[in-house]
Amino acid sequence: MNYKSTIGLEIHTELKTKSKMFCSCKNDPDEKHPNVNICPVCMGHPGTLPVINKEAVRKVIKTGLALNCQIPKKSKFDRKNYFYPDLPKDYQISQYDMPFCKEGFLEIGTSTSSAQAKRIRITRIHLEEDTGRLVHPKGEDNSLVDFNRAGIPLMEMVTEPDLESGKEARKFAEEFQLILRYLGVSDADMEKGQLRVEVNISLSKGQKLGTKVEIKNLNSFRTVEKAIDYEIERQTEVLKKGKKVVQETRGWNKTKQATFSQREKEEAHDYRYFPEPDLPTIDLEKEFIQEIKAEIPELPQKKRERLTREYNLDEKVVEIFTFNKDLGEYFEKVMSEFRNWVKEIEIKEKVGKDEFLKLTKLATNYIITDLQGLLGGALVSGEDFLISPENFAEFVTLIYKGKISSKIAKIVLEEMFKTGADPSHIIEEKGLTQLTDTGEIEKIVKEVISKNPKVIEDYKKGKENALQFLVGQVMAQTRGRAKPEVVNRLLKESL
Ligand SMILES: [Zn+2]
Repeated sequence: MNYKSTIGLEIHTELKTKSKMFCSCKNDPDEKHPNVNICPVCMGHPGTLPVINKEAVRKVIKTGLALNCQIPKKSKFDRKNYFYPDLPKDYQISQYDMPFCKEGFLEIGTSTSSAQAKRIRITRIHLEEDTGRLVHPKGEDNSLVDFNRAGIPLMEMVTEPDLESGKEARKFAEEFQLILRYLGVSDADMEKGQLRVEVNISLSKGQKLGTKVEIKNLNSFRTVEKAIDYEIERQTEVLKKGKKVVQETRGWNKTKQATFSQREKEEAHDYRYFPEPDLPTIDLEKEFIQEIKAEIPELPQKKRERLTREYNLDEKVVEIFTFNKDLGEYFEKVMSEFRNWVKEIEIKEKVGKDEFLKLTKLATNYIITDLQGLLGGALVSGEDFLISPENFAEFVTLIYKGKISSKIAKIVLEEMFKTGADPSHIIEEKGLTQLTDTGEIEKIVKEVISKNPKVIEDYKKGKENALQFLVGQVMAQTRGRAKPEVVNRLLKESL
């Protein structure tokens, strides 16, 4: 019989606010110079008083609402007392028994419909302040401390132990990150430490849960998945040998691709929590919560379902447009341009559903492959991006109508990307229109034939790729302006 793994996550997120949690210091995670964004409040000088950052509260509640949490009417801050060199006050203002959000859930699933999704319960989401950062200069026997980070609003989300594998945990964390980005509450960049995932994992056979092991300092989603899978294997081995799993905190060794013991659990920490005497209890008014609720945009899962329903897109494409939010929005703008265009010509030529699907497919292919290639990581919402959705729709329409070949399309798109000009203009100016005059193509065909007697011989001996070579030659001569099918036909006729 196999052991069942029970996994819970704790995720800390630095919120994107202008100022810190309890003072007006700048919240700038990119500040390289140490100890510039500090003041007597976040340094815990005697006589100073904290002031609650309302925007941080809004962002926590927004996250809670997006994760189906209950928002209690009353909430308060508490002091969590402990000593560490990166904690200037010797205590952290956090929330103990009255967090802003509790009892929510997030559904994770592979499919674009929520029917097969698994519900992961969320215990609570609370707000606290971040600590400073210790720096250990190489080869020196001292440590330095940078307090720029001290007092930055930090949101902590805790799940129930509803996860069962590394893959599930990774999926949950990735979806959580995506939701935070949709909500605009944080950039949630793991490499920058804006999103920190901690894992609690235990193995058991019966109803009774096994000994809990904590894994910390995981700096990518891949690592989260790998560390959990490694722990499941390691703990299974320990238990199979009849030994006991030690309750401890473990880290991840990247070189060894293994977890390692960091410290065994001494006694449970006594943080001597008590209500923060310098801050009032918070009464959350209904209107305030309604206002925040109204600001929540369409969330990733809803978007997946809608994109599938409205545009008949493949699961892979849906995932790309959901993950790259602004690329998805651009795609939808292009599609709405098509709708206008289709309406215009519908009366004359009747554009059927299949035709519309063809247009959609062309547009997605060019956006995902060619456009993303040109962007090279930049965003379509960026200032330097010049192609309007209208021009992009026209561009795709020209390909759809056979006015330009795929080869010419590449040239046109590159030019659009550089200058922002509209595609018809580029085609005209550069003389890239499709060659429709068969006489002209025939002339080139004859020329190519006379120049390649050896290839003609090969072709007559039955070598199929000889013909392909000749088509290529003619296409090159016309600079890609001839239709390959026409060239093919004319060549065969002449041979
Ligand atoms: Zn400050």
